[in-house]
Amino acid sequence: MSSVAIMWFRRDLRLADNPALVEAASHDRLLPIWIDETLDAGAQAAGSAVRVWQHHGLEALNAALGGHLALYNGPAKEVFAGLLTRFDIKAVYWNRCYEPWRMARDAALKEWLKAKGIIAQSSNGSLLWEPWEINKADGTPYKVFTPYYRKGCLAALAPRPPLAAPSRIHCIKDQRTQSLPQLNLLPKRPWANEIMQHWKTGEQGAAAQLEAFLEQGLGDYKTGRDFPSKLNVSRLSPYLQGGELSPNQIWYAVRDRALDMNVDHFCSELGWREFSYSQLYHNPDFHRQNLQAKFDSFPWRNAPEDLHAWQRGQTGIPMVDAGMRELWQTGYMHNRVRMVAASFLVKNLLIDWRHGEAWFRDTLVDADPASNVASWQWVAGCGADAAPYFRIFNPATQGKKFDPTGAYIRKWIPELRTFPDKFLFAPWEAEGHASADMFANSEYPAPIVNLKQSRERALAAFKRLG
Ligand SMILES: Cc1cc2nc3c(=O)[nH]c(=O)nc-3n(C[C@H](O)[C@H](O)[C@H](O)COP(=O)(O)OP(=O)(O)OC[C@H]3O[C@@H](n4cnc5c(N)ncnc54)[C@H](O)[C@@H]3O)c2cc1C
Repeated sequence: MSSVAIMWFRRDLRLADNPALVEAASHDRLLPIWIDETLDAGAQAAGSAVRVWQHHGLEALNAALGGHLALYNGPAKEVFAGLLTRFDIKAVYWNRCYEPWRMARDAALKEWLKAKGIIAQSSNGSLLWEPWEINKADGTPYKVFTPYYRKGCLAALAPRPPLAAPSRIHCIKDQRTQSLPQLNLLPKRPWANEIMQHWKTGEQGAAAQLEAFLEQGLGDYKTGRDFPSKLNVSRLSPYLQGGELSPNQIWYAVRDRALDMNVDHFCSELGWREFSYSQLYHNPDFHRQNLQAKFDSFPWRNAPEDLHAWQRGQTGIPMVDAGMRELWQTGYMHNRVRMVAASFLVKNLLIDWRHGEAWFRDTLVDADPASNVASWQWVAGCGADAAPYFRIFNPATQGKKFDPTGAYIRKWIPELRTFPDKFLFAPWEAEGHASADMFANSEYPAPIVNLKQSRERALAAFKRLG
């Protein structure tokens, strides 16, 4: 048996700018693998939409590797133990992930491989700065975004420029690989096909999306990014989640275009992603524990019917429902609307942010273990540098301001398509006007809460926390 190096693909399904792959490709015989890690001890399973995304990402990666990608299912150590019995493995390479369970598992695996005389090497393939690199002068992590980004990140070494894809990769094949369908990443319901109609997949899809953003979105990003019907946001988040694109590729592509306020603002949004990872790294219970302990006694409502109405886009509040339906139909929701829909759940409905986080985790194609939790904790007010409790978005006002023509609401709520602009954002206000019958006869539901009263209820509850 001649010796083999393993490239373990994880959340980095690409050939370009892949530091671990560059190392692995220097070996003469390379076995590229991917493991469905759901069965690993302590694993937080990927949500349904992310699994759909993985299915398509793996299909594309396998094609790019000439059909050599080997797929397995099971605890990673068991998979490696099996491979060790069949191949003379000399080295294993991977890019780091930062969920606490993965970091602990990877550290143990590295020791185990090294004890067997195997090179085990991890690289940074998904962050601009390692979370342990950016700290305050006293060595503690930043808790506020602006100093984290301005004094920490921007003052640190510039991110690594992107690496070219290896010019040659000599892959070998494992005949005992599972087939992609055997991994069962696709759910049985047709929902998966529907959401994927909105996306081009794989590394090529990512490159096309980046190019479209550079051409059409970046030029007016700073102001346009708040308007959900405009094409100014990049929609690159699913590719960052799956790793079809690295933040380094994006960082340098936008900065090569220009260095103006739009680029600055866009890069700072990538900075929020880094900040989220810093929080994840420093808080092992991030996904279930309020960062601010005083929220532990918050009297969240147990209201399954309201939660269900929110999940289905049937709250009767157009801006919220439009977002929730965009999410269900495309696996994505515009950031402005995410903030509005999340604020409505935790503040107007007083439902625990963890329910919202779980729904987003299951349905977003960009569901990210750091950004999702950090954003939910931010909206709920219990996170780092969080929105203050009295910041309660009014979904009707937000709609008027950021969807002034109603194009976004009309796109996702066909029941309101012919409704006049004046009452589109708060249809219940049509009472006593000519459009009242139109609303009464439509299939669109009446609001499940009164916005003003529920806002006051939230203010009172949050104020009691002190
Ligand atoms: C309740 C809630 C849940 C969220 N869940 C996720 C999630 O699971 N995954 C996720 O990637 N983002 C999440 N976000 C952050 C943000 O909404 C998305 O990153 C953004 O909408 C993705 O679209 P885009 O790529 O077009 O963004 P752009 O505006 O083009 O931004 C470029 C990139 O910057 C990063 N970014 C932008 N805003 C943020 C932010 N606030 N926090 C962290 N990174 C950011 C993303 O990687 C994004 O792809 C959430 C926000 C909220 C309010």
